[in-house]
Amino acid sequence: MMQALAPNVEQLDARCWRLHHHGFSMNSGLVVGEDRAAVIDTGSGPREAAGLYAAIRRITGLPLIVVNTHAHGDHVFGNKYFAAHGVEHFHASAAAVEHLRGHGHEERQLVRFLEPEMALRQGPYSSILIPAEIVAESGAMLDLGGTALEVFGLGRGHTAGDLLVRCGRILFAGDLVEEGGPPNFEDADPFLWAELLGRLEEECGPDTVIVPGHGNVVDVDFVRHQHREMLAAIREGKEIVASWPAGSFDPTAYQLELLPYGPEQSSIFLQRLRELRP
Ligand SMILES: [Zn+2]
Repeated sequence: MMQALAPNVEQLDARCWRLHHHGFSMNSGLVVGEDRAAVIDTGSGPREAAGLYAAIRRITGLPLIVVNTHAHGDHVFGNKYFAAHGVEHFHASAAAVEHLRGHGHEERQLVRFLEPEMALRQGPYSSILIPAEIVAESGAMLDLGGTALEVFGLGRGHTAGDLLVRCGRILFAGDLVEEGGPPNFEDADPFLWAELLGRLEEECGPDTVIVPGHGNVVDVDFVRHQHREMLAAIREGKEIVASWPAGSFDPTAYQLELLPYGPEQSSIFLQRLRELRP
């Protein structure tokens, strides 16, 4: 039998939980109303989804709905497992749905060590379930009975369609905020992401609890730091890109060290700057 990977469970307030997966340090969320409960991101395949589902069922027996913050495999590849266990409503942004339709299979590579069945498309729950319910650009309120969940976007950032989920002072931010590792720029527009972080700061009060896509829970000061760091990295990065011959992409080790994101993500960051503002 396939091994279920159990997350760490942390209760954040009377209705909200953070379920932290060990593989990619990814955070799922759970918000429990009186009639329904919402699951935010389902893990990177059937192994994590099975552990997540079991942990959720120890907290609530209510019908579940799912919200995917964005289309990266570590956040959506557990969807099929949840559908097979009775979940009918999956919500995502139009851009996330489009990415999954066109490029979903390319995400399989990402999870190959943690979820080999998902990577190889073998066995139960290894197909990609694309959410059918698209969250409008103006956002949506999802009624859980006695509790409303606010689902909204703030524009392009980590991907073309990142959603945030708010319940009271708890804010699930998806990969727009990352703790414990650098932001991931693979599908990002760093220019727009930096602007978005400014708007995100305004959405937060001093007591807002922000659950990042990966790593530990943070506060608005952390978002402010990530915002300023990205603005400074863009200033530095533009100078680096301008120093190369036209059309070339050739970061030196020294140039990568000028950026705060480690060699791999700093290199991707520079590549995105070059592609987006050639
Ligand atoms: Zn992501």
